[in-house]
Amino acid sequence: MTLIDRINTPGCGCDDAVTHLMTVSDAVEAGLALADPIEEIETVPLQQARGRILAAPILARADMPRFDNSGMDGYALCLDELPQTQVLPVQGESAAGAPTPTLERGTMMRIFTGAPVPIGADTVVMQEHVSRDGKFARITKIPAKGSNIRRAGEDQKTGDVLLDAGVVLEPKHIAICAGAGQGHIPVLRKLRVGVILTGDELCAAGDGLTDGAIWDVNTPMLLALLDDIHADLVAVEHVPDTKSRLLTATVEMSWKVDVIITSGGVSVGDRDHVKPMLQSLGAHVAVSGVAIKPGKPITVSKLANSVVISLPGNPVSAFVTWQVLGRPIAAKIAGQTQNMQPRRHVHARGGVQHKTGRCEYRPASIVGYDPRGLEVVACPPQTRSANLSPLTNADGLILIPGNIEHVPEGDLLEFLPF
Ligand code: AMP
Ligand code: MG
Repeated sequence: MTLIDRINTPGCGCDDAVTHLMTVSDAVEAGLALADPIEEIETVPLQQARGRILAAPILARADMPRFDNSGMDGYALCLDELPQTQVLPVQGESAAGAPTPTLERGTMMRIFTGAPVPIGADTVVMQEHVSRDGKFARITKIPAKGSNIRRAGEDQKTGDVLLDAGVVLEPKHIAICAGAGQGHIPVLRKLRVGVILTGDELCAAGDGLTDGAIWDVNTPMLLALLDDIHADLVAVEHVPDTKSRLLTATVEMSWKVDVIITSGGVSVGDRDHVKPMLQSLGAHVAVSGVAIKPGKPITVSKLANSVVISLPGNPVSAFVTWQVLGRPIAAKIAGQTQNMQPRRHVHARGGVQHKTGRCEYRPASIVGYDPRGLEVVACPPQTRSANLSPLTNADGLILIPGNIEHVPEGDLLEFLPF
């Protein structure tokens, strides 16, 4: 079988095409370089650890299993003591939670799943292979010696490192921690985030719209995306489209949070105050304009101890640039060290047309599998950064390299699931 590399993108192609913009990979690198991981540690009960980032490795507190125990309901015996008749008297019982009993020579013992294997027994016969007659039992199918016994320490040994620091604790990790006997978990303090919304035209979804107003998509969308990464949302502010109000809000927010997300106003129009504001404040602007479609104006900077991620106002641009740049930067600050940008290979049904220049991240939905088992995705022939409908059924974004006009059906494409 030929294995395809998990992901090996030679470059997104935008390097050749749009010289005055930063490539996506350079922008990600420059953004990540601004991100200093949180160091403050707190301890939480295991039940509250889901979604938190592990601050120290998790070690097994004991051998697991702790003692040899039965993997089946059945009968424990020493196989060499089984006579040719395959019949033995049954004496005693070993149940889960009870101390380890001792098997009398020349007998079998009733045993239940999880119960300690009696001293002197080397095999458990499942009860389906035993015919019981009062005090005696006959084995109808002799198992191999050692069958149906879960050995002490076969899963983990005392002191084994089971999870590394930097892991985001998912339900499977909670199970590992519980199995290791760890009831309290050292985690990094939560990422503190503030959102600053710009746009005089914006009203909260649900409010009535006056002439010229539109519903604010980005705030609820960003709040949901932040909830996804278990961030601590410190403040959300909607500022009028003036530089002074934006500046004040940004400075005040920077005292309280690790990450400021601004929405809108990052382009080059007269009403776009984000970049001039960052300049006035002397922020260290590491990313300003990226060869990405949608979301070209995305800007990433550092102001005092906060990283400012300035997303474009068009909702799809904001969504895409969050997935490609914002999320990994936030994850790094939060202390995550693994699986920062999950990606995989897919094929696109019917191939993909694309206007060369910037590399494009286009919403795509998984529609099936090709004969080799690779996922096949479908995507719209084109998208607009203001139109949300392509997100409805999307499972992720495909990356269409900037220098490629047509991706033929069957060619591998990089896919960012969300
Ligand atoms: P801007 O990035 O501020 O120039 O905005 C670009 C476009 O996105 C404009 O059409 C805005 O009305 C729209 N827009 C900006 N912010 C939002 C938002 N929060 N929700 C929906 N549309 C927005
Ligand atoms: Mg605006």
